[in-house]
Order: sequence, then structure tokens, then C-alpha cells
Amino acid sequence: MNTPSWIRRYWPLWVVIIVAVILWWPGRAMYLDVLTEREAARIAAITPDQGAESTPERLDIERMMDDLTWLAAPERMGRFPGSEGGLAAREFIETQFTELGLLPAGSEGFLHPFTHEGVDNAANVLGMLPGRDPSLRTIVISAHYDHLGVKNGDIYHGADDNASGTAALLEYARYFTENQPNHTLLFAALDSEEHGLLGAHALFNTGHLTPSDIAFNVNVDMLSRDTDQLLFAVGTYHHPWLVPLVRRVQQENEARIVMAHDRPKWKAGHTEDWTMSSDHGAFHRVGIPFIYFGVADHPDYHSPRDTADKVDVEFYRITSEAALSFIKLIDQVLQEKIATH
Ligand SMILES: [Zn+2]
Repeated sequence: MNTPSWIRRYWPLWVVIIVAVILWWPGRAMYLDVLTEREAARIAAITPDQGAESTPERLDIERMMDDLTWLAAPERMGRFPGSEGGLAAREFIETQFTELGLLPAGSEGFLHPFTHEGVDNAANVLGMLPGRDPSLRTIVISAHYDHLGVKNGDIYHGADDNASGTAALLEYARYFTENQPNHTLLFAALDSEEHGLLGAHALFNTGHLTPSDIAFNVNVDMLSRDTDQLLFAVGTYHHPWLVPLVRRVQQENEARIVMAHDRPKWKAGHTEDWTMSSDHGAFHRVGIPFIYFGVADHPDYHSPRDTADKVDVEFYRITSEAALSFIKLIDQVLQEKIATH
């Protein structure tokens, strides 16, 4: 065998490279574990014991519970996109938007149908509430209304995921029709989130929405129960200017709000990154700043046991009020931001 001279000449270099690669994998694994521990310590340090002494009462929690219970009822069969239950939920939202006097903002009235492989007859429901200042861009408030449907004869009711966010979205629409915002608000009840944020992605890849017209996205997904009674605010890592806003929300709300789950692997190791885990991910992908409010996965997450009777009503009230406080704040702050430059 005739070994080429360039291999022979640099043989110590090849040995170093081979040894480095052999050591790299375990080294990397150890480093990721260190990052994971560090992130857990960081989250523990920023977790408040409790927020304020009390929480504003602007939302009608009984009406929200009625809507949530209706959406998560066995008759809705888990609201699979395009199924009988999914269509009933869609019609329910459309009716509420109509009664509130929201403007139809879909491509067919309130509906924005879209197609995707493996999903038939899916549609977002979009209702617009004009703001006081037409020169300001739109803020999108989003919540997905679909869930997993029926699997092996079991109904996946999706009470927390995400009848809770949908019912909150409807209540926000009611609140803002009586308290006109500065920005135009687009209330977006999105379909097929469970199939990979399809409804949210469709807003942009069908050309229905133009990213540069949108100032911000507030997404709510899973607000109504948590083992540790924590509410996560996701997105401040990408947009640190949101941190003081979340702190202000914390000051007027009993919720224990934790800003976490938005850091990449090289920063937070194996800690879950939820940047792309619900519809806000589609907004983030096209460069729109966002915040996502939601709870951590609980034992009944994505199981037939996620039912309306498991909702922690007071916790749900508090988390929904917290997200409302944030929407009101961002509506004020962004106005100042754009008006001043
Ligand atoms: Zn969800």
C-alpha cells in the first residue's frame, strides 16, 4: 500500500482531529446538561412566590366557562379540523363574532379556508375590531380552536387545549368592543394548530396577511390549569423589551408569571423551547414580535382526560386577566413607540 505523502506528512494533525471528534460528543452532552441545570436555576430564581394581592375583574368568567364547556362538550367530538364537531365550533365562533359586530376579516366572510395535505375543510375564523387610530398597524390576538378529535374510540375534548384560549379570545373580543383599543385588533381563532400550526402558517403563505402590516401577536393556548399554578410568558428572550411589560402585568395580577421556555439549545440545554410550539411560531417565523401565554404540559395534556370539569376556574380567571392586561399594555406602548419616530 502506498500512503499518499500528504497524509504521512501531517499525521499528528489527523490524530488530533480524530481524538477531538471522539471527545466532542460526550463533552457536548455534558455541556448541555450543565446548561440545562443552569437554566432550571435561572427559572427558579425568577419565579415569583405570588403576584399582586388581587386581580382585576374585567372578564366574565362564568360566560367563559360556559363557552369553554360548550367547546369541550362530548358533542364536539374533540373539534378535529373539518369534522362535524370542528365545524360546529367554527360556526359557534362565527356567530359570536357576528353578534359582537366584528368586521369579517377572512377571505369568505369571517372564514379563511385553507388546504393542506391530510387536513380537509379547515378554516380560520377572523374578526376585526377597528382601533381608534387607523395609522397604527394591527395587533393579532390568536387562539387555536381545533383539537385532536377521536382516537381509538376516545374523545380528546381539549378543554384546556385549547377551548380555554378560544373562550378567552371570545371574551377579549367582548371586552374590547366596549373598550375601544388604539390599534385595530384582529381576533384569530385558528384551525389545525395540532397538525403543525397549519392555520397560522396559512395566514401568511396564502398571502391573506402581510407581515409588515402587523405590529404584534399575542397568542393564548392552555390557560386553565397547572399543577404548579404557574403561567408562562414566552417570547421575552427574542424581544427583551417585553420584560418590563410582563413585570407590570405581574404587579397587578395574582398569577405567578414566569418568563421562560424561549431560549435556544446552546443557551438553555435540554430545557424545552416553546418558540415554535404553538401558533405564535408562525408569526415569529415571518418576523412579527410575539408573546405567548400558556401553562406547562399537565398529566392530562393531549389525553382524553383534558375535560371541562378539570378546569381550575380561579386560576383560569387570573391567567386570562393577565393576558388581557398585557394586550392593553402593548396597545398603549406600541402606539407610543410608533408615534415617536
Ligand atoms: Zn394547543
